[in-house]
Amino acid sequence: MEAHTSKVKALVASKCPKCRVGHMFVGNPYGIKRQRMNDLCPHCGFRFEIEPGYFYAAMYVSYGLSMAQLIIAGLFTYELTKSDSPWVYVAVLLVVTFVFAPFNYRFSRLILLYYLTPKVKYNPKYEDELPREDEILKMDL
Ligand SMILES: [Zn+2]
Repeated sequence: MEAHTSKVKALVASKCPKCRVGHMFVGNPYGIKRQRMNDLCPHCGFRFEIEPGYFYAAMYVSYGLSMAQLIIAGLFTYELTKSDSPWVYVAVLLVVTFVFAPFNYRFSRLILLYYLTPKVKYNPKYEDELPREDEILKMDL
């Protein structure tokens, strides 16, 4: 029996929360082509957007992530420059906001599905075997 993929490892690799095999996103967050999210898991057929508008809740996760990044960036800027000018902070925080936007888009959705959606559970059965085509249709959550 093979060891199963750990939750954190699967999250960092942007895998499906149900099977931890299929990729949830297509493209690199910092690639030239824009990243996009698959509608269905290519491995187990799980529908990522559980219900219409489900990822509106990811905005709250994204807000939390960007607040943490901005506070850390602000403290670093203060430590490095000891500046009193608000414009130094405005410039640094704007850059940080834009640089982390693709990261936050991806990981806010992943964190929402992995940690804040109790009804989405990992099932090692899906990691071990490739389901049949007709099972994929029934598997919609
Ligand atoms: Zn899957």
